[in-house]
Parts: sequence; C-alpha cells; structure tokens
Amino acid sequence: MSVYLDYNATALMRPEVRDLVIEIMEGVGNASSVHNFGRAARKYVEDAREQVATLCGSNAKQVIFTSGATESINTVLNEYKDKRVLISAIEHPAVLECATQAERIPVTKDGVIDMDTYKALLNEGEPPALVCIMLVNSETGVIQPIAEAAKLAHEKGALFFVDAVQGAGRIDISIDKLGADYMALSAHKMAGPQGIGALVTRKGVDAPKFMHGGGQEKNCRAGTHNTAGIAGMGLAAELALKNLPHYDTLTKMRDDMEAKLRQATNNLTIYGENAPRVGNTCNVGIEGVPAQTQLMALDLDGIAVSSGSACSSGSFKASHVLQAMGADEDQAKSALRISLGWNTTAADIEAFVESWTRMVKRTQK
Ligand code: PLP
Repeated sequence: MSVYLDYNATALMRPEVRDLVIEIMEGVGNASSVHNFGRAARKYVEDAREQVATLCGSNAKQVIFTSGATESINTVLNEYKDKRVLISAIEHPAVLECATQAERIPVTKDGVIDMDTYKALLNEGEPPALVCIMLVNSETGVIQPIAEAAKLAHEKGALFFVDAVQGAGRIDISIDKLGADYMALSAHKMAGPQGIGALVTRKGVDAPKFMHGGGQEKNCRAGTHNTAGIAGMGLAAELALKNLPHYDTLTKMRDDMEAKLRQATNNLTIYGENAPRVGNTCNVGIEGVPAQTQLMALDLDGIAVSSGSACSSGSFKASHVLQAMGADEDQAKSALRISLGWNTTAADIEAFVESWTRMVKRTQK
C-alpha cells in the first residue's frame, strides 16, 4: 500500500498538467526564436502568464517566471540587503536564510503574527523599507492576516512581500485584496511541475533585475525559458483556481481525521487549531514520541507524511515554527505534518489513522 499525505512538500502533478509538459518536451522551440517553433513556444509562455495572472488577480505584465519561490524570494530580498526589513519568525528558510539581517515579528501560540509587536516594530525608529510575511505557514497551515499587515506597512511607506506558496489553489490569493506589492509562487505546491515558479508584482511595482543575460522576462530574469515547466505552471494555476471549492471537502476530511486522532490519545497537541487554517494541513504532536520514530513506523506501513518543513525533513531539526509558537525543543521534535491534496481519498486518511493509532498504542504502553 502506498499513501501520500505530504502535499505541502510537493503535490502530485495533475494528469492534464503532466500530459502537457510531456507533449511540449517532445517538441522543440526556444520562446525567443522568431521562427514557427519559437512562436509556438512563446505562445505557451504567454498563455501561462495569463493563467498565473488570473490566479493572482493580476495582470500578465506583472508576472515574471523564475525557477521557483526560492528564487523569487531571493530576487526581492537581495534588493533590500542594506535596508530595514521586517519578516515573521515563521517564514520559510528561503526567507530566513536570505534576510539574515531582518528583524523578526514573533507569533502567538496559535501561530498568527503578534499584531501588537508588529505595530511596535513599525513605529520604532526609521520605518522599514520592506515587510515580508507568508500567507499560509507550510508547517501548520495557519493563514496570516496579510491584508491588515500590508495596510499597516503601507501606512509607514514600506512595501509588502507575501510568500503565497502554500496559499495558492487553497484560498484566494488576489494580490490587490491582499495588498501585496510582491508575491512568490512555486508551481509544484499546486500540482504543477517542480523547478518553476513566479514573482508577481503589483501594478506600478517593478520586479528587481536579478539574473543578467539574454534579456528574457523583461530583463529581470535572463535565461532560456523553461517552456514546458511554464506551460505546466499555467495549466496548474488554472486548475487550482477552478478546484478551490474542493478545499471544503478536504477541510472536512482533515477535521474528521483530527477528531479520530484525539480519540486515540489525550496526549495530543494540534498546532494552530484555534487559528484560521487552510483545509489540507494538520500538524500534531504527541509528547515523548520523536517525529523520527513516528515517521519510520508510518513509512513501514507505506504512509508518507512529514516532520517540520519540507526542506528540513530528513534532518529532524526542531521546527523553528513550532518553537516560535511556544513549543519546547522536545515538543517541536515530536510533531508530524499531514498534508492532503487533490488526489487524497477517505481511504488514505483511514489508512493513516489506523497506522498512527497502532503506533501510538505501542509507544504508550
Ligand atoms: N515558501 C514556502 C512557504 C514553501 O513551503 C516553500 C517550499 O517548501 C518555499 C517557499 C520554497 O519553494 P521552492 O523550494 O519551490 O523554491
């Protein structure tokens, strides 16, 4: 048996997307060439730009394709290296490792940014040039109050950057409604291909010029277009938007699952359960049972979940997100992230609950 419940690490590609990617890879054409083959590739790229813009409630002119959210994040944050920057304490390592000079906004025990401290930081000394807060936390699924945070940042003259990677295809990510100036996306979190993403800017805000070379992507991101990846991202964006209502079903599945996990032990913490969360994510800790032990037991039953964030899974470091929410090191090392996606079935959840319950009973004897 094989059950995949690690959609926040990467989502299974939708078959329509996979077919399109393969079809394009079987052909030829550089999107910058003027001949027929080049024009065909160019059309794929420009159609995808429209599709991604629609997902973000933006305009195609505002979309720059990159190799993924990490690159989009580095592109923006590198522009602000010598300026005052505020970031949340629960950002993805792509932000934390790029903006090492930034001041951190703490979060509450529910995993939501602490608004009072945020306001105090905004009012302290020289106003920041940039504020960077993720829309949805990858480990807990907690949704941040971006529109309110962005409004406060703008009142101080700061620009606002949102990492919308884990929100895309799960909630509305319209850039104007969020009030963001920059937005980072990765296709593979919304059932598109890996290694392709976008940096979207609000109208009137220019994307920084990061990659120098052949002048592609309005001179901001040079290099031959990844036509198949870009087209795959475009289709994934279109399908993600169309399938947003499916998240209600996933929410119900996730909530039922959490109720069953609670029945198995009274030693359970559900991180972020009192905050608004996206419907596909569940992060649970049982104290005294390291995530490594839990992961291995589940893996033997063919069930794939994750501990902590995708990029640090395998290293079993205590999660910085859970620690920022007040968990101590042992608690933060005993948490599992279960993340559902478009292909998750009730049978998958049942298999996980059964295997997890058996594991809990064994470890708590
Ligand atoms: N931001 C968040 C919230 C993520 O979850 C991830 C990936 O796990 C990234 C950024 C980085 O995305 P990528 O590795 O596709 O560049």
